[in-house]
Amino acid sequence: MRLVRSVAELRIAVKALREQGLRIGFVPTMGFLHEGHASLIRQCASRCDATVVSIFVNPTQFSPNEDLAKYPQDLEADQSLCLKLGVSLLFLPEAQEMYPSNFQTFIEPGRVAEPLCGKYRPGHFRGVATVVAKLFNMVQPDLAFFGQKDLQQTAVIKRMVRDLNLPVDIAVVPTMREPDGLAMSSRNVYLGPEERKRALSISLALFSAESAFKSGERGAARLLSLALECLWGVDELQYCELVDASSLEPVVGLVDRTVAICVAAFVGSTRLIDNLILSPNPEAQGILSVGPD
Ligand code: AMP
Repeated sequence: MRLVRSVAELRIAVKALREQGLRIGFVPTMGFLHEGHASLIRQCASRCDATVVSIFVNPTQFSPNEDLAKYPQDLEADQSLCLKLGVSLLFLPEAQEMYPSNFQTFIEPGRVAEPLCGKYRPGHFRGVATVVAKLFNMVQPDLAFFGQKDLQQTAVIKRMVRDLNLPVDIAVVPTMREPDGLAMSSRNVYLGPEERKRALSISLALFSAESAFKSGERGAARLLSLALECLWGVDELQYCELVDASSLEPVVGLVDRTVAICVAAFVGSTRLIDNLILSPNPEAQGILSVGPD
């Protein structure tokens, strides 16, 4: 595994891979890697000839009151996991490398970035889209991998790729969970033992709606109220919504297409998100095909 820190080195290393005719897969991350990231990297390694992973805590997707300064890091553990998983190239840029002084060009996502997290994290998806577009231009992957855990992020990236004709395919990987159901997240490390127990109510709320859905419940309001009943453990609920899995627009009345039930909530001072896909077509149940169209 090769470690590179500058864009110039990265370009040379990627060029060498491409000259060997290899299909290049890319997994962008912010580090403090867990089994969710590992699942993306494994998928990438199984579908591509060379896997490029980036670790960069992107300042432009954090607002001033968020956790940029204390975002968890363990570069040594991240490196050994990447090595174990067969990563070819690990890109570890500094902020100055990604955003040199006088940086001033951003990608502005459209409607897909407005609901859900977009309401509570103004500018977040602008930062995400910008850094991902930059990383795509640097790595020029054939295929890039994103987690369903960040459902709206996948929708924003897919929309950007289509709208800007970026020459990359996007693969979405299912959410990895702890044995009790909590969605894995680098931020789970912030949770104290008592908060960790209460955080479980988020996935339980989603599973409760899913189980009613599987038993035939199709009323959007009923599904949401079942989820809300379980959300006793959170300190501040930002949203619990049923949205069209493609457009992310709210679904009211009867659920007659593939939807996502999405939650964002604070437990203590930790903001957690999670979602599940509900599809009236049993074969598509739980399978995500998020896309803007
Ligand atoms: P992050 O390091 O949090 O920016 O995440 C990097 C990538 O890993 C994103 O595409 C996330 O959606 C994905 N990811 C994070 N947590 C999980 C999880 N529990 N299961 C699957 N993918 C995940």
